[in-house]
Amino acid sequence: MYIPALQGHDVFYNASDLPLTEAGFIKIDDYQEVQFEKGEKVSKTHIYAVGDSSALEGPGWKAKQGHIAEVMARNLAFNIAEKEKGSDKRKGYKEHLNILCVMDSGDGAAFIYRNHDKEVIFPLPVIGHWMKRGWGWYFKNSKLKKVPRIPGM
Ligand SMILES: Cc1cc2nc3c(=O)[nH]c(=O)nc-3n(C[C@H](O)[C@H](O)[C@H](O)COP(=O)(O)OP(=O)(O)OC[C@H]3O[C@@H](n4cnc5c(N)ncnc54)[C@H](O)[C@@H]3O)c2cc1C
Repeated sequence: MYIPALQGHDVFYNASDLPLTEAGFIKIDDYQEVQFEKGEKVSKTHIYAVGDSSALEGPGWKAKQGHIAEVMARNLAFNIAEKEKGSDKRKGYKEHLNILCVMDSGDGAAFIYRNHDKEVIFPLPVIGHWMKRGWGWYFKNSKLKKVPRIPGM
């Protein structure tokens, strides 16, 4: 099943003057700052967008994913803190674009990885399904701080 990104949230069209792409996603720069274009000028704002609502820029294979939304949120917290300090240090999301996915088929799964240099897909019969189930349990409970987070995961 392929689910296209379709379009942004109605509230952006109906109740905001945010700059949107044709598909209704919020235009941002690499540091997630909203990009208002007036004539040839792009004015910077103190408005930011993170995750699926934003218009990602990058290679044709890019995909909106949970871990990208998390990277964007983490980077943005850093960028705002640095901006408040008057520093020029910034972290961008584009260098983190990749696809990392375990597609559960009920009786197994397919592991998929794609970045700027390589693409990998291989089947994980039976065990893939349980890996995905395990990940779902770990992800939820570690976010809720019910179990400790494994460093780097
Ligand atoms: C079927 C499917 C499978 C996916 N599988 C994966 C995967 O395996 N791995 C992966 O990394 N990513 C996966 N993704 C993508 C991932 O879910 C998203 O990229 C991620 O959830 C984006 O996070 P977000 O916080 O930007 O948006 P969301 O998680 O969509 O959060 C937006 C929140 O805003 C709330 N909201 C909406 N309107 C309003 C309103 N008017 N007022 C207040 N709140 C509102 C919504 O209820 C929602 O809770 C999948 C997506 C889909 C649809």
